[in-house]
Amino acid sequence: MQAKKCKDCEKNAAPRKVRCSSCDYRHEKQVRPYETAFRQWRNSVAARQAKAPESRKHEYKFEITLEQFKEFARPVDLLDKRGRYATSLHIDRKENEKGYVIDNLQPLENSDNVRKENERRAKRKAYDWELAERRRLGQYASEDEAKADEGKSVFYYAVSGESPNFPKAPY
Ligand SMILES: [Zn+2]
Repeated sequence: MQAKKCKDCEKNAAPRKVRCSSCDYRHEKQVRPYETAFRQWRNSVAARQAKAPESRKHEYKFEITLEQFKEFARPVDLLDKRGRYATSLHIDRKENEKGYVIDNLQPLENSDNVRKENERRAKRKAYDWELAERRRLGQYASEDEAKADEGKSVFYYAVSGESPNFPKAPY
């Protein structure tokens, strides 16, 4: 008995299906572009969440529906503007902490994102000597500052990367 051939390429076998898997993917992308892009996006966020340390998993919380994605992507023509040029668009979280919820998303040009990431790194690197000294002495400037530091050791900051003012040893 001869195996069933793919309807599109007529080369690969397509058992129990009309198209082989690569033609099927191409076809889906063509007839259901938003669904395909949404699924890829959701999967890539899930993959990043799986790799993230426990303290950062919440940054990849994903609560976007397909409908929300369409409403977000259509007006800015996101699907056609994806890519690796400086002016290409991608989906950015305004605050990483809040994860992927619709109010936290904005379309951003790649070049803007590079700038944003650099700012974030610079902020994380900034060393607040005075805060470090207050922390060392356990004498905080305010109740709020003490509260924010509560239960957090230097080790906590080192692992979570949470504080932009993590006091790195100056040697
Ligand atoms: Zn095929």
